Amino acid sequence: MKVAINGCGIGGPALAWWLLHYGHEPVLIEEAPKLRQGGYIVDFWGIGYDVAEKMGLIPEIRNAGYQIEEVRFVDKHGHKSGGFNADVFGRMTHDRFTSARRADIGAALYGAVKDRAEVIFGDSVKAVRDDGSRVSLNFEHAPSRDFDLLIGADGLHSKVRQLVFGPETEFERFLGYRVAAFDVTGYPHRDELIYVSYAEPGRQVSRFSMRDDRTLFLFVFNDDVPDGRTPATDDERKSVLQGLFGKSGWECPQILDFMDGAESIYFDRVSQIRMTSWSKGRTALLGDAATAVSLLAGEGTGLAIAEAYVLAGELHRAAGDHAAAFARYEGTLMPFLQAKQESARKFAASFAPKTSTGIFIRDMSMNLMSLPWLADLLLGGSVRDDIKLPSYEAA
Ligand SMILES: Cc1cc2nc3c(=O)[nH]c(=O)nc-3n(C[C@H](O)[C@H](O)[C@H](O)COP(=O)(O)OP(=O)(O)OC[C@H]3O[C@@H](n4cnc5c(N)ncnc54)[C@H](O)[C@@H]3O)c2cc1C
Repeated sequence: MKVAINGCGIGGPALAWWLLHYGHEPVLIEEAPKLRQGGYIVDFWGIGYDVAEKMGLIPEIRNAGYQIEEVRFVDKHGHKSGGFNADVFGRMTHDRFTSARRADIGAALYGAVKDRAEVIFGDSVKAVRDDGSRVSLNFEHAPSRDFDLLIGADGLHSKVRQLVFGPETEFERFLGYRVAAFDVTGYPHRDELIYVSYAEPGRQVSRFSMRDDRTLFLFVFNDDVPDGRTPATDDERKSVLQGLFGKSGWECPQILDFMDGAESIYFDRVSQIRMTSWSKGRTALLGDAATAVSLLAGEGTGLAIAEAYVLAGELHRAAGDHAAAFARYEGTLMPFLQAKQESARKFAASFAPKTSTGIFIRDMSMNLMSLPWLADLLLGGSVRDDIKLPSYEAA
């Protein structure tokens, strides 16, 4: 089958890999002019890790990644106020856990398909016509083309979802936080392999020292952005962050001074996508487009890769019956992913506590994570993937 995949982030190239594996012809369409670079760090484990291992990508991802040793909370003077030893994640996952830039995982996936699949950068699907036997696509720039299937792997604000399923407002569930991230070179404070976080009521900023003298900053804050709008330009983003963190303690003034050195600033709502079906006719959704779990789940990258594996596997097993494949894809994964979303929503209140007491309680409970049984109790439910992925090799 000839399969158009809109979006070359994580799920898109992973799906292309598995479609190639089964002898199909994927075409990746990415709106960015080149593969997105930089950006935030993600934790990577679970069923996505297992699938990446089947693809032979774990050495590359681990090489690009970081084995974080400590998560440290600090007060406004930079003194440690709580935290835990990050080996708790390694122990729970039998060392099948790493943290890496989302872009580096994307680059590993893209590198594994780029010489075997057509990839179109700087374009996007603009209109979709499904006549039952083919799906005809209009693009922003390229001439129209026909495909057997269209897959939307174009993230939280998916264009394919909007074109085929309806407006974002029908499916987005806002979790009450906004997130911003950027990275810079030459920031003077470094704590190698330690994720350092500072919180004030309703807002939190974290930094992580990376290779090549780079430092990543991640801001998470309650929804108090002026007029509730997501700022559209980097200048607007900077002024929102200045307004929110300009008078904050710890290194905040210095971090904001360095913000001008950032190539770009990521800024978005923290939201989930909830749908009752991920497919319609010859179109299906994948990854954040279908079922964003949000950064609070800390697993969206791995889940997008696992979804790609199941979707391609079911298409292979169904031997051309895409409707049957889409139904099995949803049936296999939807309850599991909804449980992941539920668990992330429960965690939302303690992520960036709204009061000083909440921050104190959060720090104290994190200190207790050095007790293995308590760590299991607090984190086990969200770290464990209660699902066994099907095997499709014999199909
Ligand atoms: C701050 C933050 C921290 C996170 N932390 C973690 C974590 O610790 N662990 C984890 O596993 N996950 C984490 N996530 C979630 C993770 O990044 C996503 O779940 C994952 O990237 C989803 O992959 P995807 O391929 O579905 O979408 P994306 O990675 O968003 O990729 C979508 C791609 O589609 C492209 N695109 C968008 N619109 C169009 C269009 N109209 N036409 C063509 N292309 C388009 C985009 O440019 C992008 O390349 C975090 C997310 C954020 C924001």
